[in-house]
Amino acid sequence: MTGAQGITTRAAEVEELIPLMVPEIRGNEWRYVKECLDSNWVSSVGAFVDRFEREVAAQVGSRFGVATVNGTSALHIALLVAGIKPDDDVLVSTLTFIAPANAIRYVGAWPVFIDAEPDYWQMDPEKLETFLAKECRYNEGRLYNPRTGRQVTAIIPVHILGHPVDLDPILELARRFGLKVIEDATEALGAEYKRTRVGSGGDIACFSFNGNKIVTTGGGGMLVTDNEQWALRAKHLTTQAKADAVEYVHNEIGYNYRLTNLQAALGCAQMENLEVYVKAKRQIAERYREGLQGVAGVRLMKQARWAASTYWMYTIAVDETEFGMSSRELLRYLRDRGIETRPLWQPIHLSPAYVGPAHSRYKVAERLFTKGLSLPCSTGLTLEQQERVIAEITSAQARVRKTSSNVEA
Ligand SMILES: *Cc1c(COP(=O)(O)O)cnc(C)c1O
Repeated sequence: MTGAQGITTRAAEVEELIPLMVPEIRGNEWRYVKECLDSNWVSSVGAFVDRFEREVAAQVGSRFGVATVNGTSALHIALLVAGIKPDDDVLVSTLTFIAPANAIRYVGAWPVFIDAEPDYWQMDPEKLETFLAKECRYNEGRLYNPRTGRQVTAIIPVHILGHPVDLDPILELARRFGLKVIEDATEALGAEYKRTRVGSGGDIACFSFNGNKIVTTGGGGMLVTDNEQWALRAKHLTTQAKADAVEYVHNEIGYNYRLTNLQAALGCAQMENLEVYVKAKRQIAERYREGLQGVAGVRLMKQARWAASTYWMYTIAVDETEFGMSSRELLRYLRDRGIETRPLWQPIHLSPAYVGPAHSRYKVAERLFTKGLSLPCSTGLTLEQQERVIAEITSAQARVRKTSSNVEA
């Protein structure tokens, strides 16, 4: 990704691109992948698949892991095994990458969006409670959303940017209202909630091993659960629901959602460095905190008392009035200087894919969408690179300050 690799002139160094996030291949990746190639076990079954499933489940503290082709398919299968039906309503964070909402639609159910809380930017348990307790109604023992006329059956809290959702109140609400909890933990492998690993609290949790996630298999995913029946059914559904070991007999409509042994080999090697990656991310976060805390109009990521964040994607909130530049202007300013950043996701309730009336009750997510900017945070980010990012942000502000005082003069 670094275009200037190998070029040593000073000008080229200054121009070196600092990418937002690139994987770090530093361990047994070559060895394990070579083992697959040498043994011809390259495809959809193999020892690395089994090992990867065991290791991720063990890391999370869940009994079973089922590997999938990506995180989105893990969410799809998780919803199916949790029994989510067409025309159910499923509650999901609005401030997230779009995948969980899409997975809800894949099973024919409908997303109902919940706003973020302003401190850690995660699904707001109070707004969830307001919706369930004040807006929903029981009819013959079933919980209904009167706006849609549909039964509410599940919650998908999404642990965004490496920080956990405040899960306990959500689990309590799920018990009270009889709802399943499917955790989208795709951005939070290695994070902890009240000293337990993220992904072990709900009924089932999903992970992603996409190229920008903390552990990557190139592309890949996994669901983890303590429920053996669900795990067996998940394996069945991801392998075309083949019901006989020999005969091609299929007892329901399945999917080809398997992870290959080659990918799992990468994953096993990456998992060996998970703690190293988490440590690196936390160090990067600490340096951003030190370097940017004095910059007016830049709000830094916070960590809750009850959380150990991985700071998977280090994100700031830029206040246009105070900083003197909007988050998008800062994005372009940094891009012109070879620094790659990215905005936060458009809240899904505003997405053209999910057209609906813009709603005043999603104002936290909408504000964060306007202000959020994720900064370079590859685990291999060097101190020099990070200092350059901090210096450019600081000088961006100095520059707008100067320009505006010139205008005033
Ligand atoms: C990455 C991600 C996923 C899954 O992504 P895949 O690319 O399908 O592996 C799901 N939800 C969220 C919030 C994500 O960030």
